[in-house]
Amino acid sequence: MEPFDIYHLFDKLSIAIFVLRLTNAEKREFLIEMANEENKKACGVDVKQFVGMSLRESFPGIYDIGLPEGYYKCVSEQIVIDLGEFDYGEHGVPVQTYVIKATPLSSDQLMISYENVSQLKRIERELLQKNQDLIETNKSLEEFAYITSHDLQEPLNTISSFVNILKSRYFEKFDNTGRRCLDYIEKSSIRLSNMIQGILSHSRLGSNATITDIDLNIIVADIKEDLMKALHEKCATINSDNLPTLKGDAIGLRVLFQNLIENGLKYQKEGNDPEIKIQVEESENGGYLFSISDNGIGIEEKYKKKIFQVFQRLHDDTTYKGSGLGLANCQKIVNKSGGKLWVESIVGQGSTFYFTLPNNLK
Ligand code: ADP
Repeated sequence: MEPFDIYHLFDKLSIAIFVLRLTNAEKREFLIEMANEENKKACGVDVKQFVGMSLRESFPGIYDIGLPEGYYKCVSEQIVIDLGEFDYGEHGVPVQTYVIKATPLSSDQLMISYENVSQLKRIERELLQKNQDLIETNKSLEEFAYITSHDLQEPLNTISSFVNILKSRYFEKFDNTGRRCLDYIEKSSIRLSNMIQGILSHSRLGSNATITDIDLNIIVADIKEDLMKALHEKCATINSDNLPTLKGDAIGLRVLFQNLIENGLKYQKEGNDPEIKIQVEESENGGYLFSISDNGIGIEEKYKKKIFQVFQRLHDDTTYKGSGLGLANCQKIVNKSGGKLWVESIVGQGSTFYFTLPNNLK
């Protein structure tokens, strides 16, 4: 059997490595003792060509970015050092980003291993830029929604006041069809006004958020108190786990819990006693996974995404009253906090709304 060649293995490694020997501590002079093939791929230079030569003469650019200081610390203190990210380029190779590590091998030898992370950095920069663009687009969409809905309110106010005048002063002069038309105009302008108010408050959600410590048990207790009459009339129960105290925006969290609880009470079969359960568990990344479940009518699989969109309702106003904004608001609050909101449901048995919240809401 042929003897195993350790240099062959060194050459085949898919990480770029070279070995240095400290020749003059004071001047931080090193000799290049070994280098593997991978160097060519990683930095575009065949470092093997420079074996037996001084580091300073072969790669003066390395001295310009101060790396030999770290190399010296590695051998003198005999410690592995993650030197971090460096931008470097010479021998006609453009500047690229490398992550470099120094490992001591003997009292005066060390191994430098490095990775070219330029492509990863480029992708990271592109992602950051895209994220920034998205944030700006979202912001301008919110501003657009706010400005247009604000401006729409004005002509609508004019219509509403003239309808009021017509109703109060001339109602008797209209025949039945005229009166019915007037009623329709009035109802529609009220509906339109509610929708505009809804868009306004949706676009403003979270814009003046103040972050404080929020005891969610208090939020739920307040909601229960406000809903006391409805809970009594519907023979409803709300059972909650002991909830955590979070850093967050009290208004947003209140809107979130209130909408989900109210929906659980509302979307029920006539005569059913609503049972709402609020549960929480700590998630792996230090945040929480909450669930609010009900024993209501449930939601068909095909509508599980649609219901989170603005003004999307599965029922008309005569069966279940609503604005179609509750879940869109919840979605916005949870997303702004860096969490996720989704629903699992069995038609006829009930729904569970899940959401995650980090412990340091933005
Ligand atoms: P709204 O309740 O004002 O209609 P939401 O945005 O809160 O608006 O809800 C959107 C739609 O999702 C509702 O119209 C309803 O059809 C459905 N929905 C929401 N919550 C529940 C629930 N707990 N059970 C069954 N359906 C629900």
